[in-house]
This record gives sequence, C-alpha cells and structure tokens, in this order.
Amino acid sequence: MTNLKDIITDYRERRRYKRLQPVAALIDMDGTLYDSMGNHAEAWRIMCEENGLAVTRDEFFLYEGMTGAQTIDLLMQRCRGMHATPEECEQLYRRKTEIFKHLPDVSPMPGARELTDIMKEVGMRRVLVTGSGQNSLLNRLEQDYPGVFLDGMRVTSRDVTHGKPHPEPYIRGMQLAGVTPSQAIAIENAPLGVKSAATAGAFTIGVVTGPVPRAELEKAGAAIVFDSMPECADAFPQLLYEMLTL
Ligand code: CA
Repeated sequence: MTNLKDIITDYRERRRYKRLQPVAALIDMDGTLYDSMGNHAEAWRIMCEENGLAVTRDEFFLYEGMTGAQTIDLLMQRCRGMHATPEECEQLYRRKTEIFKHLPDVSPMPGARELTDIMKEVGMRRVLVTGSGQNSLLNRLEQDYPGVFLDGMRVTSRDVTHGKPHPEPYIRGMQLAGVTPSQAIAIENAPLGVKSAATAGAFTIGVVTGPVPRAELEKAGAAIVFDSMPECADAFPQLLYEMLTL
C-alpha cells in the first residue's frame, strides 16, 4: 500500500483542503458495525419471492446503503414497470423488516468495537449514518457499542429525503457533529455509501467486509481502502497522527 502520508497529501491537494482535521467520525452501520448484510439480502429475497418480484439474493449487496423505499421503487420499476406507491413502500418494507427480525442474530463486525473505542478515546465526535430504519439493530447499538453514539447523534432513513448514494445523509451527519467536510472521516463498506460520503466531502475510508471487491470502493471515491475492520482499527491511530501533523 502507498504510505499514509502520500494518501493524505494527495487527497488534500485533490480536494484543495488547506488541512485535514479529524474532528468527527461518521460511521455506517450495516456491513460496517454489524455483520448483517447476509441477513438483509436474505430478508429482501424472501419478501420479494412472497410478492412475485423476481430477484437474486446477491443483487441486494449492490443496493446496500439505499433506503428501503428506494430499493422497493427500483424493484417495482424493473419487475412491474411502474413506481411503487408510498403505501407499497411502507407495506413491503415492513414485511422485509419482519422477516429480518426472525433470521438468526447478527454479530457486531469483528474489529469495529476496537475502532470505535479509539475514536472515543481520542475525543472524536461520533455520528451514525445509516440508510437503515430497522429498530432491531438500531436498538442494540448502545449494548454493543457502549457510549459510542451519544443521544441524537444518528442519521437514519427517517431523517433524510435522499438516501445514499446522495450526499444528504453525510451532510446531515456533518451538521449533527458541527463540522466542515475537511474535519470529517467517514467509514463505509459499500460503493453507494462510499459515494455518498465522498461526495459530501468527507475523507472516506472504505472497508472490505463482504463480497464487494476493493476496486469498487476505490472507484466510488474512497480515499483509502482496508481489507478488514481489524486492519482499519490497527492503522487508524497512525492515520489520525499523519492528518494532524502533515
Ligand atoms: Ca453499509
């Protein structure tokens, strides 16, 4: 890997940021904090099968980051040639959520606790930025990541008009943290999420945690890509150090 100094300098010059200040961490949830993408894909597949929508399980890894309503609209346009009504979006998403709840429990992503603990220790502001509106995971956050997300420091599907890859979720995250783009680091595992964060102007770290290859995260605009969350957690203190001293 090119060294961190080069990556940071190159990024700063491309963005024309005078300097980078790692004040806030904006963190995605599914596939980043939780090893949940397999269950999501399976819940989508079952819901679609019940409703006569022809899909494959794997296609849902590509839609990761979109809101439920956007995903349903995309499927309805493809399978039925028409937009989904708000009622259909609500009903089908509720059913998908119901199925998800009954699948085997998902685990926190290995390495994610270490990473968020570092962010907490160095005093970075932390904001959750997720396309999800699923309470089954949102309600577990405090238990699995104690003290990481303070009250109100989350952007979910309910807080935005446009989901990822639109920059709105990450712009909202920066507003909650009270930072400018050059003061924000985003952590993402999916191409649409990386695109959202990078377009919003955050230094975006892509982490490979599933079947999507690193080249896709680079193409989507990641400033740097790690091959796992433990690798990301290991390198994070050095990354902060280089940002602060360059
Ligand atoms: Ca994700």
